[in-house]
Amino acid sequence: MTFSEQVFSVLRITCLVVALTSLTAAPGSAAAAADTSGTSVTQAFIDAAPDRLAAYIKVDTTNPPGNEVRGAEFFATIFEAAGIEYEIAESAPGRGNIWARIQGGRQPGIVLLNHIDVVPADPRHWSVDAFAGLIKDGYVWGRGALDMKGTAIAQLQAFLALHQAVENGAKLSRDVVFVATADEEAGGAFGAGWLAKNRPEIFAGAGFLLNEGGSANTAGDDTLIMVEVTQKVPVWVRLVATDQPGHGSAPTQTTAVTRILRAGARLADSRFPVRAIPAVAELFAGLAPYQVDPQLRAGFADIGEAIKDDLFVRYLEAVSPFQHALVRNTCSLTTLEGSSKINVIPPQAALELDCRILPDQNEAEFLAQIEAIVNDPQIEISKIMSFSPAVSPASGKLWSQIEKLAQRRYKNARVIPSVSTGFTDSHFFRDMGITSYGLGFFVIPAEDFRGVHGNDERLGVENLKQGTAAMLELLYDFTVR
Ligand SMILES: [Zn+2]
Repeated sequence: MTFSEQVFSVLRITCLVVALTSLTAAPGSAAAAADTSGTSVTQAFIDAAPDRLAAYIKVDTTNPPGNEVRGAEFFATIFEAAGIEYEIAESAPGRGNIWARIQGGRQPGIVLLNHIDVVPADPRHWSVDAFAGLIKDGYVWGRGALDMKGTAIAQLQAFLALHQAVENGAKLSRDVVFVATADEEAGGAFGAGWLAKNRPEIFAGAGFLLNEGGSANTAGDDTLIMVEVTQKVPVWVRLVATDQPGHGSAPTQTTAVTRILRAGARLADSRFPVRAIPAVAELFAGLAPYQVDPQLRAGFADIGEAIKDDLFVRYLEAVSPFQHALVRNTCSLTTLEGSSKINVIPPQAALELDCRILPDQNEAEFLAQIEAIVNDPQIEISKIMSFSPAVSPASGKLWSQIEKLAQRRYKNARVIPSVSTGFTDSHFFRDMGITSYGLGFFVIPAEDFRGVHGNDERLGVENLKQGTAAMLELLYDFTVR
C-alpha cells in the first residue's frame, strides 16, 4: 500500500462521518471529494518540510551557549499560526524548551522528542554558510540538518498534519506531545533532564517516545531500519594521584605523575570480560546476512558463541571498534593533567576516563573493577557522571506499527533493534518507564554520514520528504481511531 493510499483510508473514516451527515450528495461521492482534499492537505505538510528545515537551520542554536529559546520561538510562531497551545520554559536564561499537546483518548500517549541545540560549525571547514539555510543541488545544507533539526521538522510536520485532521473531526486514541529541548549535545541537564525533573506533567500518561538515535540504511537490495532500544551507559570517572611534589632536577621513585601514568597504562592494557546481552545478540544476528567478511558473517549470526573465541574478539576490535564496544564494558582514557610547569613535580596528577558499560551492568561492581585495575591507594577514584540503565522492548504495539510501516514504505525492509554505543536523551524517559525508540526514517547514503557533527552537514530534499511522510503515516496509524 502506498502512503497516499494509507492516508486515504485513514481519512476516509473521518470523511465518511461527514458524508453521512450530508443529505445533499451521495455518500460515496462526498467521501471521495473530501478524501482528495484531505490527501492534498496532508501532502502540503510533507512538501513544506524542506523550506521549513531551511528556516529552522537559520536559527543559530549552537551549544555552547545554546540560545535554544530562539528555536522555541521558531516553533511557537508556527503553533500560533496553527492555533495550537504550547508552553515554553527556560531552565536558565536562553535555555528554552517548548512543548505542545494534541488531546486524544485514554491509550498511553506518544511523545515526539527532539533537541533544539546543535554542535558548533567551524566556517573554515565548510563549503557553505552553516547557518544560511541553503537549499541547493537537491539538499538542505546546514548545521543540524542530520542532528537533529531534520528529524524535528519531520516530527513537527506530522504533528501539524495530525492536528489538522483532528480539527477536521478525526478522533485520536491517545495524546500526542511534541517536545523540543535544550542542551542534548552537552548531556541534557538544561533540557530533557530538566523537564523530566521540573515538568513531569508533560510526560504524565505517556507510554511511548520517539527520538533520534535510529537510522535507515540500504544493504544490497534491502533497507535496514535500525531502531535504537538501548544504549551503553556512560560512567565518567576521574582519577587523582597524590604524592610528594618536588623539583624536576631531582626525580623521586614515585610521583603523582608516574602513579597516574602507570594506572593509565594498566587501564589501557586491560579488557573487561566479553558478553552478549540479548538486545546486542539480536542486533548482530540482524546484521549478519549483510556482512561481506565471511568471518564476521559467521560470528554475527551467533555473537554469544563467537565471542568465546578470543581471536574473533580481537579481530572485531581491530576492524570495527563500535561493534566491539557492544560486547563489553569499555573505558577510553581522555583528559590528562600533570604539572603546569616543566621543571615542577606537581603534588597531584589526574586522568579522566570515558567508560561505557553495558545496560545490565551493575555500576558499583564496575567501579570496583576499575579500583582493582588501578590498584594504588594514593589514587582517589571518583565518579563524575553516570546514567541509570534501561532497555525498551523490541515488541508491542508501536514496534509492530513500525514494522508494518517499514514493510509498506521501504524496499525489502527489515526492522532491527539496535544498541548505541553513544547516548541520547532517551535514557531520561526509559527511566520513567516510557518505551523510547531512536527512530530515523531518512535513508542516509554512506557519503552523507560524514555530516553528523562534521562539515557540510546536509539532508536530501526528497529524503526529508519521504521521512516526513513516513513519520506522518506512523503517527496516523498509531493514533487515529
Ligand atoms: Zn542529536
